[in-house]
Amino acid sequence: MTRRKAKAPTVGFVSLGCPKAASDAEQILTRLRAEGYQISGSYDGADLVVVNTCGFIDAAVEESLDAIGEALTENGKVIVTGCLGAKKDAKGNDLVRVAHPKVLAVTGPHALAEVMEAVHQHLPPVHDPFIDLVPPQGIRLTPDHYAYLKISEGCNHRCSFCIIPSLRGDLVSRPIGEVLREAEVLAAAGVKELLVISQDTSAYGVDVKYRTGFWGGKPVKTRLYELCSELGKLGLWVRLHYVYPYPSVDDLIPLMAEGKILPYLDVPFQHASQRILKLMKRPASAEKVLDRIAAWRKRVPELAIRSTFITGFPGETEAEFNELLDFLDEAQLDRVGAFSYSPVDGASANALPGALPENVRDERKARLLRHQEGISTQRLERKIGQRIQVLVDDIDEEGAIARSAGDAPDVDGVVYIADGHDLEVGEFAEVSVIDCDVHDLYATLALPH
Ligand code: SF4
Repeated sequence: MTRRKAKAPTVGFVSLGCPKAASDAEQILTRLRAEGYQISGSYDGADLVVVNTCGFIDAAVEESLDAIGEALTENGKVIVTGCLGAKKDAKGNDLVRVAHPKVLAVTGPHALAEVMEAVHQHLPPVHDPFIDLVPPQGIRLTPDHYAYLKISEGCNHRCSFCIIPSLRGDLVSRPIGEVLREAEVLAAAGVKELLVISQDTSAYGVDVKYRTGFWGGKPVKTRLYELCSELGKLGLWVRLHYVYPYPSVDDLIPLMAEGKILPYLDVPFQHASQRILKLMKRPASAEKVLDRIAAWRKRVPELAIRSTFITGFPGETEAEFNELLDFLDEAQLDRVGAFSYSPVDGASANALPGALPENVRDERKARLLRHQEGISTQRLERKIGQRIQVLVDDIDEEGAIARSAGDAPDVDGVVYIADGHDLEVGEFAEVSVIDCDVHDLYATLALPH
């Protein structure tokens, strides 16, 4: 039997300049090959050309501009990267764009992600299931119907109990076109729910000053609001994790009210006492959190808020711990996780005075979780009698196990549907809620309207 082989898209590559430019070129070439692109040393036969430039001395600038001009004449589709891409003329305009306005994209040096984003936009990779080692959506550890979408790496904060910034560095946001492309590929592969993650989701784009990227031929800012608006158009469940309560989060609430993203926020508050939050060096700790939650819920009453807290932080007094319990009473959070403080090697909090014994840290954690149980149960009881949409995660002999908009996988509760045997994993279903306990809902299939 013969089969038709998908034609691999071909990228012409021209590299000028010093060893650093050569190293950038190697990275780009490696990525292109890994994604199944063919590489060509000439213009003919190439679907697009990448010119890696040098801008060190005038002669190098001339040589690079000539190479771009030649690539445009011979091929027409040209992406420029490298040092010359970062150079401006006396008026602050891109030197390359002034000389060659028809280039498709211009990036500076060390811009692997941006170059790949531009290549993907103008010459999408072709997936060949017979050749590619990985499916187009990549290798995922999650079930087929939901996927984590990582939007940035690293973190600009320096919380005293955390060593992530020293391990992963400062915030680096992924280009928005790249993130949206990944989301689209996941949607095409059958994913029904995207879980947006990063160390600090609300900070998306801060490091690149909310730079304008491109998606679907349109300019779109590298910012959480724009990202969520675009994700909301894919027709999937979009769930936000690790969102700090900055004022900018208020802008997302209308997207929830309009049904574009799920009415769900995972906000790791970690504590409620201003003194402890300061010692923790938590982001957005000075925000008026309770007012903010009230305003969010006024607009979106069904908003589910999940949070985590640390008990027994160094120096935490019984009064400060009680402040945290009072906060839980007022905030009426839907889901709460808790951790006893544990010193991490290299974290600055280890040097704080007033370390508490392990049994105190653990006892406070147990007390916090007991305290929250009643609140979580009451929040779920409000759903009894309601008709809700769920996404099916599993089927067993007792029926279907699904999740509602208020349940993230693994960390929140589930919805048990006793008569859901005929449902399928990854299917959306309408159910009527008949009962609940602390974490989970019990439902039956809803009768057709
Ligand atoms: S705990 Fe703080 S420092 Fe660590 S990743 Fe989260 S926001 Fe950044």
